[in-house]
Amino acid sequence: MTLDDAIKFILQTIGSNPESETVPIEKSSRRFLAERLSSNDDIPPFDNSQVDGYAVNTNHIQLNTPITISQRIPAGSNPYELEKSTTARIFTGAVIPKSSDAIVMQEDVKIENGQAVFVKKILPGQFIRKRGCDLKKNQIFFESGRLLSAADVGMCASVGLKNLQVFKKLKIGVFSSGDELKQPGEKLNAGEIYDSNRPMILSLIKALGLDTLDMGCLPDDLNQTIKQIANASDKVDIILTCGGVSVGEEDHIKAAVETLGSINLWRIKIKPGKPFAFGYIGKTAFMGMPGNPVSAWVTFALLCRPYIIKRAGGNVPGNITLFLESNFEWSKPNDRQEFLRGKINEDGKLEIFKNQNSQILSSICFSEGLIEIPTKTSVSKGDKLRYYPFSMIL
Ligand code: AMP
Ligand code: MG
Repeated sequence: MTLDDAIKFILQTIGSNPESETVPIEKSSRRFLAERLSSNDDIPPFDNSQVDGYAVNTNHIQLNTPITISQRIPAGSNPYELEKSTTARIFTGAVIPKSSDAIVMQEDVKIENGQAVFVKKILPGQFIRKRGCDLKKNQIFFESGRLLSAADVGMCASVGLKNLQVFKKLKIGVFSSGDELKQPGEKLNAGEIYDSNRPMILSLIKALGLDTLDMGCLPDDLNQTIKQIANASDKVDIILTCGGVSVGEEDHIKAAVETLGSINLWRIKIKPGKPFAFGYIGKTAFMGMPGNPVSAWVTFALLCRPYIIKRAGGNVPGNITLFLESNFEWSKPNDRQEFLRGKINEDGKLEIFKNQNSQILSSICFSEGLIEIPTKTSVSKGDKLRYYPFSMIL
């Protein structure tokens, strides 16, 4: 199955959004908005000064002539109408007085005997921020499903919102699997390695702002695997596993999920990341990633992440990619779409990490993005390739 078809398939299995809850805006960052927001006033709600300076009526001002300063308007005050042939001292953010149509910045004004002298041509409208220039009254500014950023939180505050409806956080359980795996702090015996995937995947989920449940490491044993996955399916919305989804004698996860629910195991046409399992145990989704750390990372980024975002009530963002010239040659055309680990070099060209083996986790740590090699394609230096900065897919 192609990557695009796999993504389409898993996304269309998602039914309704999660329930929503009310949170104060200061706790809404990194949450998925569960309502449509519109402004109940113009923002800003009044014309105001963009600078510290002097408010004038351009029809009544003569340059190089001393003019009376008739009032002082700090931000937050309510000015009276500008008296004819006078000017008003005004500060950034303060209301523009009636009958004035421009602000002169203080750097362009001379003060002589307590009066203002304007020395530079004044254009009507200058340095005035118009009412509603940020948002218009009743304007819809955010749709449901938006992942709220820090600036979004500020925007909500600027229209006076105190609370927001957001989708309840999903809970995602993560298992690793394999008798060869030891946990950090334990002593390694011959043939054993540390379990790097589980802390990595837990961290990837936390970065999405979702709750995780560390379910531990599954032994390579069918009955134990069934028992532990059944237990997890009562506790979480999504179960993620890594390893044990090939079709080897020590791979029991597919059989376990089949016993408890339903599962599809696909050979996805991507490298790294061929075997990928997807299914449901009741309403709990199951996603089985490959065991090799790079394959787990790549399938998480390309398959699990969009599913998790949509399931959490979010709008799945399109992958933002760059199209850049390659600084390397690739003469191994493949039936699978390949995602090489690399970065943009000083000349703005794509460069790959020297070791592209899917066990080499440092190929991710020492890279900054994925470089896509389309199927059945060789690459010569200078060919343009698609680059996915890690910051855009995670
Ligand atoms: P598997 O799909 O279970 O056959 O695993 C494929 C490869 O990935 C094997 O070399 C495993 O030792 C390795 N592997 C599986 N799970 C992990 C993990 N959690 N951390 C590090 N390596 C792993
Ligand atoms: Mg294994």
